[in-house]
Amino acid sequence: MTRSLTLFCAFLLLITSCSTSKKTGAPISYDPPGSTNTKTKPIDLQKKGTFTLDGISVNNEYDGARMNGFEKLSDSLYRINIHPENAPINMSPWYSFKIRSATPREIYLHMKYRDGKHRYYPDWSNDGVHWEPLDSGRYTVHDNDSTILKLKLDDKYRWVSAQELWTFKDNEKWVGQVAGQSFVTQEAIGESREGKELNALKIALNPKQPLLVVISRQHPPEVTGYLAMMAFVEELVSSNDLAKQFREKFSVIVLPMLNPDGVDNGHWRHNTGGVDLNRDWKYYNQPEIDQFQKYMHQVVKTNKLDVVLGLDFHSTHEDLLYTFNNETFPDEKGVVKAWIKRLREEFPTERITEEDGGAQSPVSKNWFLNEFKAEAVTYEVGDDTPREFVRAKGEASARILMELLLEKYAGHH
Ligand SMILES: [Zn+2]
Repeated sequence: MTRSLTLFCAFLLLITSCSTSKKTGAPISYDPPGSTNTKTKPIDLQKKGTFTLDGISVNNEYDGARMNGFEKLSDSLYRINIHPENAPINMSPWYSFKIRSATPREIYLHMKYRDGKHRYYPDWSNDGVHWEPLDSGRYTVHDNDSTILKLKLDDKYRWVSAQELWTFKDNEKWVGQVAGQSFVTQEAIGESREGKELNALKIALNPKQPLLVVISRQHPPEVTGYLAMMAFVEELVSSNDLAKQFREKFSVIVLPMLNPDGVDNGHWRHNTGGVDLNRDWKYYNQPEIDQFQKYMHQVVKTNKLDVVLGLDFHSTHEDLLYTFNNETFPDEKGVVKAWIKRLREEFPTERITEEDGGAQSPVSKNWFLNEFKAEAVTYEVGDDTPREFVRAKGEASARILMELLLEKYAGHH
């Protein structure tokens, strides 16, 4: 290509960079424009501190907090401002703050979002560790997006949060616990943009054994998917006979928190590069995805491993499994269709919804297929799915999958 033609193409790319094109991958229906352009974009940092009005203090100085301003509207009505890290952005407006009043009183709090609409039912905590849904009598949400919380305050801080807090530090602790088992090792495979370790768990990693890969928390607010991932992994490392048999035949790599910066900064969706990481599995513009994909290629190549399944845990409005259609990955070649059938038998009164599709968009599920010819699933958990069921289904998912993989591959390796 001549120099002038190159320049002309560069110019064309520049002026079309806001729209999704063939250059950046297929669009996803619920995405805002430009999501699959994963070049680094600027983000706004929230101002950290204690904001005090009439003796009421609101604070965001902790990991996972998101609160961008506090205003007075009338005698007992105040406003909390919540902004995304940048926009346009997927509608998952995370918020988290702690609040107290020097004198005991009840106040109304209007939740005001920039570039977003209220989504998460508020959780309430006395210590930032134990959570319960805010009493329904203290919460009103109207069609016109005026969400009001009625809070009873005294001089002790109370936490209000879109979901339970599971921060980078909490993840480190969990990873450490799982890695306490003799057949599990922990490895930092790289660093986030802000320098947090991306810690992977290697379970029974053995060059002769086919590999299951589990990832989670590309999207910071998606705590229920993360809870399901923990239940799933804990079942894989348990001491029962099924898990022991499984680990004699299969290896597992787990990367439980791919976006630790977004989690600790209280982001709605993106990493510190201002990008939706689960749209970066084609061009690897962001360090979190790029380091993980390099690590995976190196491990798989060095050990000549077969990747049998990739699982990516997320959250959305309902429990849902994104799978491949039969044309993209023949049903009988994999285990996912049988897995869903057995899950439905295990939970006959629950709706186990499947949405199958192709492998065009630059998400992790499609990357597993395109890079490793592996079957893959995006495992979505509802925002408000009862936590006991999230765990029960996470454990059952692991159990059924171990059974199916053993049935399918026993004797082959
Ligand atoms: Zn997600």
